[in-house]
Amino acid sequence: MSRFFSSRYAELTPYVPGEQPIDQPYIKLNTNESPFPPPPGVAEALAAEADRLRLYSDTECTQLRSILSERLGVSPNELLMTNGSDEILNFAFMAFCDEQTPAIFPDITYGFYPVFAAINRIPFREIPLTADWRIDLEAFCPAEGTVFLANPNAPTGIALGRDEIERVIRANPDHVVVVDEAYVDFGAESCVPLIHQYDNLLVTQTFSKSRSMAGARLGFGVGCESLIRDLNTVKFSTNPYNVNRATQAAGIACLREDDYNMENCRRIQETRSWTAEELRKLGFRILDSWTNFLFAEHAAIDGETLYRKLKERGILIRHFSLPRIRNYNRITIGTREQMEALIRATGDILEETR
Ligand SMILES: *Cc1c(COP(=O)(O)O)cnc(C)c1O
Repeated sequence: MSRFFSSRYAELTPYVPGEQPIDQPYIKLNTNESPFPPPPGVAEALAAEADRLRLYSDTECTQLRSILSERLGVSPNELLMTNGSDEILNFAFMAFCDEQTPAIFPDITYGFYPVFAAINRIPFREIPLTADWRIDLEAFCPAEGTVFLANPNAPTGIALGRDEIERVIRANPDHVVVVDEAYVDFGAESCVPLIHQYDNLLVTQTFSKSRSMAGARLGFGVGCESLIRDLNTVKFSTNPYNVNRATQAAGIACLREDDYNMENCRRIQETRSWTAEELRKLGFRILDSWTNFLFAEHAAIDGETLYRKLKERGILIRHFSLPRIRNYNRITIGTREQMEALIRATGDILEETR
């Protein structure tokens, strides 16, 4: 820390993203990226946009919002595009929390929430997941603050039904409920259809997982017009050009071939079932997953050791050191071939530790 660093941030512990090593090629099953390339039209759209990079981007993302709003069955004014969904989550902490309005979220969930709270100097309360890793719905009804629920949750992969989330929304009429649907396209129920019924619901989604565009940084929020207006006030006060031209062009092209993306999601779900079954045969306990990853533990090998031994064999998975989940690993679903390699390597590791 330099002697100039603001005292406001001196205590901040930044979010730690999954590793992206460049020392050797790895089978990357650690950051929930898609193993499939974006739809073919994306490359063409990017090439065509190169000339126009000298111009600032459209601050309103007009064309992108128009196509996306049609797909979602909402009005363009109920939609805000952001630089990844991380950005809209940060905007939501800024817009809907303060000293009197804490952020409330589960103890085991997306690791960025406590960081967003900390950088914005917002108090937060963590509600423990139940013993079987479920969100404790009762404890959120009401929550006495702005609620952040990842649905499906990460890193557990477990989803709540739309009716269960709706209970939380109804129980907190005077607070915003943010539903982070980063993984919703892998088989869970979206709460987007509820935005016309509830003025306290904000749903966030991303192009990073189900649409193969993690590197483009494109996310969005869906909510009633007044919530979106508040979020726009924050956006235009921080970075009006938050979604660059290349990403807007890529996003438009990506949505034109959205059937391709949704077919990939279906393939991931198939490979997920196969992988879960194979890991169970090897003695793993696997939580039910509605996402593009599995959360797994084994009685005979601790999470950290398995992570390390797989890395030695060129396979990256994600290990978290939080005490409650230290024995687990989060394993992204890749292609069938990648998962076969994972199963082989894991079998070998268990064999040699026996
Ligand atoms: C990946 C992820 C995000 C954000 O991803 P972006 O790449 O910023 O869109 C948000 N929430 C959860 C739970 C995630 O796993």
